[in-house]
Amino acid sequence: MSRFPTLLFAGRRYAVLGLGNNGAPVVRALAAMGASVRAWDDNAPARQALGDIPGVTVAPFESLEGLDALILSPGIPHLLPKPHPVALMAREAGIPILSDADLLFQAVRRAGSRARFVGITGTNGKSTTTSLLTHMLVTAGIPAVAGGNLGPASLSLPLLPDNGVYVLEMSSYMLERLQDLHFTVACLLNLTPDHLDRHGDMQGYLRAKWHIFDSQRMGDLAVLGFGDAPGDSVPRMVDRLAASGDRVLTISGTSPNADLSGAGGILRDEAGEIADLAEAPALPGAHNAENAAAATAMALALGVPRVAIAPALRSFAGLPHRQKPVATVAGILFIDDSKATNADSTSRALGCYDRLVWIAGGVAKAGGIADLAPLFPRIAHAVLIGQDAPALAETLAAHHVSHTLAGTMEAAVPLAFDLARQAGAGTVLLSPACASFDQYKSFEHRGRHFAERVHELAGTKEEG
Ligand code: ADP
Repeated sequence: MSRFPTLLFAGRRYAVLGLGNNGAPVVRALAAMGASVRAWDDNAPARQALGDIPGVTVAPFESLEGLDALILSPGIPHLLPKPHPVALMAREAGIPILSDADLLFQAVRRAGSRARFVGITGTNGKSTTTSLLTHMLVTAGIPAVAGGNLGPASLSLPLLPDNGVYVLEMSSYMLERLQDLHFTVACLLNLTPDHLDRHGDMQGYLRAKWHIFDSQRMGDLAVLGFGDAPGDSVPRMVDRLAASGDRVLTISGTSPNADLSGAGGILRDEAGEIADLAEAPALPGAHNAENAAAATAMALALGVPRVAIAPALRSFAGLPHRQKPVATVAGILFIDDSKATNADSTSRALGCYDRLVWIAGGVAKAGGIADLAPLFPRIAHAVLIGQDAPALAETLAAHHVSHTLAGTMEAAVPLAFDLARQAGAGTVLLSPACASFDQYKSFEHRGRHFAERVHELAGTKEEG
């Protein structure tokens, strides 16, 4: 692994709008490769945090004429619900709007490396699959790095040699901003309603995700989640991909009919059993069987030996805030699943525990938690926080699930503990089914706050 040459992008000119977690590293990386960069963020602290960088001008954009590309932060729309004025400016000037993943690809090829690129998308499980695949590659001795949507930003990744693999988590926003990036292996894990404000409807959302396969060529591998797509469109999607020369593998966490299946917790393909997922502690539940099946399909295609898969699954540490055990306090296990920001991902966690106290709430997605009703019998008590707690309470009341509006995490954690003890439930699960931005900066911030409160509770119980 090495750094990109300093004059790789000399003479190129870029505009970067949005200087947050994605934009700021993009500006730094482009400048370090010799490009001249115009950067802007409406938020003054973000501009100040960037500091003075040679080759970078921080000023609002008046025109984008003559630039090579505009890089928009993933949070800034260029299509729906309404294109940002700077995106319109780019369109008028006829310059491409790119994701930094595309610039990474350009930089890698320009630097002479033939490293391969893997793109992973879907509604849920992207980060887990991305980091699991990277772990499989690295433990098999293949130079690999993970990045993109889960961080680090694509352009902060190092230069890999010819046998290296970039494993990029691709959000649908990033997928709409690709020009050159070619994925040797591309994976669409699953698709359930989310972010429909940005894509109009399910068809628009599928179209955005489908871009992951656009650049594939004869002999490349397309991995497709089996069963979660709208209607029964998977067979049609497989035909469509196969017709364009892709090798297609279907994967599933539940259906034994997929090419690579994790049904019943056993990972297998047509050649037989590959691993028993009961031995992979960081990958509980059928949803993680889906992630493991996808990562395995890709790892095998990228040269990881079959015998190396099971040990890699066992040694995978998991990602923070995805069903992560935090602590056991007086026999009650506290689990942080703060990353579950929609009902679908919460359903995966709820399905893993027979009887639990559930902490949920924040900013609810369209449809709220109504789809979780089949799992409500597992809930001994629900403790609700955040802005949409009353709406969640209404759904729970309609299904006779006992619940309390706690408001904040400070109140929720000790209350959940007491309720779990009273109800004889062994688990307290934070799996909010809601976004966090009413009370927190991010889902990570929410998860850390939960863990702090749990540790504090553990301290008081030990003293007591
Ligand atoms: P993403 O990066 O797509 O948001 P993560 O891997 O970070 O996905 O997982 C987010 C949450 O989604 C987890 O907390 C888990 O509850 C749920 N989840 C993980 N994998 C899947 C899957 N394959 N299908 C549905 N839900 C999943």
